[in-house]
Amino acid sequence: MMDDSSNTANLKTANTSMSALPDSQSILTTTEALQAQFARMYQLSRQQPINNWATRLEQLDNLEAMLRDKQSDFALAISADFKHRSYSETQLAELYPSFSGITYAKKHGKAWMKTRRVGISALYLPAHNEVQPQPLGVVGIMVPWNYPLYLAIGPMIDALCAGNRVLVKMSESAPQFAQCFAEAVAHYFSPDMVAVAVGDVELAEAFSRLPLDHLLYTGSTAVGKKVMRAAADNLTPVTLELGGKSPVIVLDNALLENVVNRVMMGKTLNAGQTCIAPDYVLLPRQYHQHFIALAKEWFAKHYPDIGNNTDYSHIINDAHLQRVQKYLDAQPDDIIYPVSELPTDTETRFMPPVIVADPELDSDLMQEEIFAPILPLVHYDTLDEAIAFVNSRPRPLALYVFGQKESALERVRLETTSGGMCVNEVLVHVAQHELPFGGIGHSGIGAYHGKTGFERFSHLKPVFVQSKLNGMRLLLPPYGELFKKGMALLLK
Ligand code: NAD
Repeated sequence: MMDDSSNTANLKTANTSMSALPDSQSILTTTEALQAQFARMYQLSRQQPINNWATRLEQLDNLEAMLRDKQSDFALAISADFKHRSYSETQLAELYPSFSGITYAKKHGKAWMKTRRVGISALYLPAHNEVQPQPLGVVGIMVPWNYPLYLAIGPMIDALCAGNRVLVKMSESAPQFAQCFAEAVAHYFSPDMVAVAVGDVELAEAFSRLPLDHLLYTGSTAVGKKVMRAAADNLTPVTLELGGKSPVIVLDNALLENVVNRVMMGKTLNAGQTCIAPDYVLLPRQYHQHFIALAKEWFAKHYPDIGNNTDYSHIINDAHLQRVQKYLDAQPDDIIYPVSELPTDTETRFMPPVIVADPELDSDLMQEEIFAPILPLVHYDTLDEAIAFVNSRPRPLALYVFGQKESALERVRLETTSGGMCVNEVLVHVAQHELPFGGIGHSGIGAYHGKTGFERFSHLKPVFVQSKLNGMRLLLPPYGELFKKGMALLLK
């Protein structure tokens, strides 16, 4: 293992030599280029593990500089992929959490990477135990299209802070942003630290087959299974950040105006294309019509003149629009309540919110993740019934509960299991650096963000440090009187 100073010096050399290359040469577009780059990073990760804070900090600084300089380009490229993505939403849901995550990691990373002493049982005193966080090596990050900036930057922060080299695969469904991001990374990073792959599903499959030290995949549950299968061949550990149907349970004493305000915010942000968007609402039946009326008022107030309103984002591509349109086509007209007077525009892929009151529970709308601004209301009569409904389905990525009565809120907390949860709020648990973020069961495996993310991408190596003076010889055969007395004491 090299010492810290030679490590930094080598990286600086790599940085200098790479800056002479045109950016495009560092973008990985073929399986061969991807495999060669991985091999190089892998070798470097074994020869020059990044054990010093200065190099890790330099990478976080590079990330911050890239974001600061390229934020407009990134937002415009994302908008081009969506046909229209609200600039303010990109600031709120992609740029802000990225900057804030970098600041948090820069503040705490040095302390996280310190070796720490832990307890030891009396038998082994005066030796001591330590836990030493070490970089894993080369981490792969597979990014989806819905928040393609934050879902690349977020895992990169944690992986770089933990001293890893990082390979990123961008989504083929957001190609303009993918290219823009890859060019920026090539400019701000040495390719030995971070390299970006841009290409189709075939390249994504090749990416998932690399013998990475860890693979974090964000995307659908169906593809997540394929990725995990491919990773299994190399025993590559995975973090799977998947999707699913995140329910809202509205208790009968909830303040309905507040519920509508928060749920509609969660469902309209990025036109419902958010992994933790409220998927459907479990609501006592007597509140359905009032909910719908309040939702219409809410939308008119927050998205006035919707035909010319640039705050509302569009659907990512024709295939997704057709997919969700089919959900609606399968429902009877008399349970569909458009929240806006404007219809969907297939040309621009503008789709205003729609509420569906009490759809068939075996319809695709209620079986598949919606990922669009369609909000089913499902009635329930007793809290037992609402909890049983959630528990009869795969464990969701998020669960939201609204109400005033502590005992009922507590029941929902204890009797349901989801990746994460908010009480009287939606979405914002994802923005808390102090909370782990991830799914459970079909909504994912593992969690990251903040210290949890640092540890996700570190090997927490247990180290036993023996003392010069120690009693280990007393544990050797032949087992005499002293051993017997000692054991009698320990086993008492
Ligand atoms: P996507 O189609 O962009 O795919 C995600 C990634 O998988 C991309 O990098 C893509 O290149 C790769 N990929 C596609 N096919 C592959 C294959 N056969 N083998 C290997 N890799 C392949 O994104 P998506 O899946 O449409 O994303 C939407 C889903 O992601 C939703 O289900 C959403 O809930 C989920 N999501 C989860 C989170 C989270 O943090 N848990 C965040 C955002 C989105």
